[in-house]
Amino acid sequence: MSINIGVLSIQGDVQENLLSTKTAFDELGIDGKVADVKTPEDISQLDGLIIPGGESTTIGQLSLINGSMKVLKEKIENGMPVLGICAGMILLSRTADDRVVGKTDQPLLEILDIKLERNSFGRQKESFEAEMSLDSIGIPKFNGVFIRAPSVSDVGSDVEVLSKFNEKIVAIRKGNVIGTSFHPELTDDTSLHRYFVNLVNTSKN
Ligand code: GLN
Repeated sequence: MSINIGVLSIQGDVQENLLSTKTAFDELGIDGKVADVKTPEDISQLDGLIIPGGESTTIGQLSLINGSMKVLKEKIENGMPVLGICAGMILLSRTADDRVVGKTDQPLLEILDIKLERNSFGRQKESFEAEMSLDSIGIPKFNGVFIRAPSVSDVGSDVEVLSKFNEKIVAIRKGNVIGTSFHPELTDDTSLHRYFVNLVNTSKN
């Protein structure tokens, strides 16, 4: 059965994720569709969702205003696989404080029992790339692109740590929910998108 993946297109790295997901479908030979989604109606049709990197305060506020926050939370809590990238992982978290300004009271989905430090590695000009590994999901080598990235400062007992960089947690998983501090859509390596497509495929078929 064909699978239907959406990329939340309120703000952020939408086109890059559409392209990486299309490439992953082709490489895996899986029959699937990927489209940008914005409204509660679009979101309710999905088998899987990518929440892209961008600016979590903007994505959260606008999703709240257009009514998407509620349906996102319901779908994900009912098992829809989701890949939250950078700002996307922030939105999935229960608590996210900024490294410099602390609490911001931004809207969050509060699905993952994790505490985040936003902008944990510094400002835009401190962006960097580093080699990571995500051994437990079969990705021994991955080039992590970090842009104003968060790190995970605390995880609940049911959250699996997938990767660390400089002692900071930068990728996690809880069941069908995956979060990364870095941007897989900004590399040519589609391993993480392939992993996600497979997860959506298995959970649907
Ligand atoms: N610093 C951004 C935020 O806190 C996230 C940056 C990103 O997604 N690259 O929302």
